[in-house]
Amino acid sequence: MLTSVNSGSIALKAPKKPGRARVNLNPDQEIEARLKLSQSLQTTLDISELLGMFLNHLQELMQINGLKYQHDSHNIDIQLGGKGLHHCDYRLITPQNNLGEIIFNRSKRFSEAELMSVETLLGLLVYPLRNALQYGEAVKKSTRDPLTGAGNRVALDGALRRELLMAERYQQDLAMLVIDIDHFKEVNDQYGHIIGDDVIREISHATVSVTRDTDMTFRYGGEEFVVLLSKTAAPGAAIIAERIREFIASSQIKSNGQTVTTTVSIGVSTLRSNDNVKDLFVRADKALYEAKKAGRNRVVMQDEQDNNKKKRKPKAIIKA
Ligand code: GH3
Ligand code: MG
Ligand code: MG
Repeated sequence: MLTSVNSGSIALKAPKKPGRARVNLNPDQEIEARLKLSQSLQTTLDISELLGMFLNHLQELMQINGLKYQHDSHNIDIQLGGKGLHHCDYRLITPQNNLGEIIFNRSKRFSEAELMSVETLLGLLVYPLRNALQYGEAVKKSTRDPLTGAGNRVALDGALRRELLMAERYQQDLAMLVIDIDHFKEVNDQYGHIIGDDVIREISHATVSVTRDTDMTFRYGGEEFVVLLSKTAAPGAAIIAERIREFIASSQIKSNGQTVTTTVSIGVSTLRSNDNVKDLFVRADKALYEAKKAGRNRVVMQDEQDNNKKKRKPKAIIKA
């Protein structure tokens, strides 16, 4: 059963029926440990790192298997360490902010003294956590395209660099789609820019809706999008590209009392050994150009002949 406890500006919920105390620091040691924790919590704006520091500190004081931190409106769900049968949950609220919920797990009940210790230490976590959440939101905003909510070019650059590293390290496939709306100038000319904006937004949402959760959609420029497909080779990428093309070609976009139909052309590239961040894009863009030249509303894969010659090979072949 849970009971509510209030401590300062933090609303706390803690379990009833505590067990035996396990905190062994003398008052001077406690003050020193708190000071140390407070200082280290100010050294990072990364939420996982922050929570990791907090958990490590708690684990020095008492037996804790792990923690879970959730913040629905920030889309954050972090589990650190192990789970356990017993838990204490705290909702972290300041007068201005809801800072989410933190749950500590372990295999036996928390004692009253341990709960008091956790609650005192949570007071040190609140403002570093608020700063980290605000920083995370600012970063998110700076990497989102405001019209579509898709990642912008800054986000694409970062994701591409990360995906290339992962693909290289784990010998995984990676594919890129470059999507461009066909004759979009005519849409603007015929319906105006407001409806044009709606079309861009709807096409972005349609792309996200027909791809997997692990695929990443970015607005590259005005009416151009890039989709990164991790762990995807050419056949899979061709299927996804065709699915996007077909879905958009058969959709009606309703905006401002008008119904707009439009199509997209898509160029597809897949990663080759020694590719840098530009190479993948250049080949997809070239394929897109071919798709436009061939009449639009179609998918073109990067040069197949070239592809066969330079197919990616595993870095090392281990013979038994
Ligand atoms: P193509 O089939 O060759 O791609 O023809 P297109 O008309 O789509 O190509 P072009 O690149 O000539 O035109 C792109 C148009 O997209 C021109 C520009 O006014 C419009 N555009 C770019 N960004 C935005 C935007 O944010 N909102 C709106 N409404 N239009 C935009
Ligand atoms: Mg264009
Ligand atoms: Mg276009």
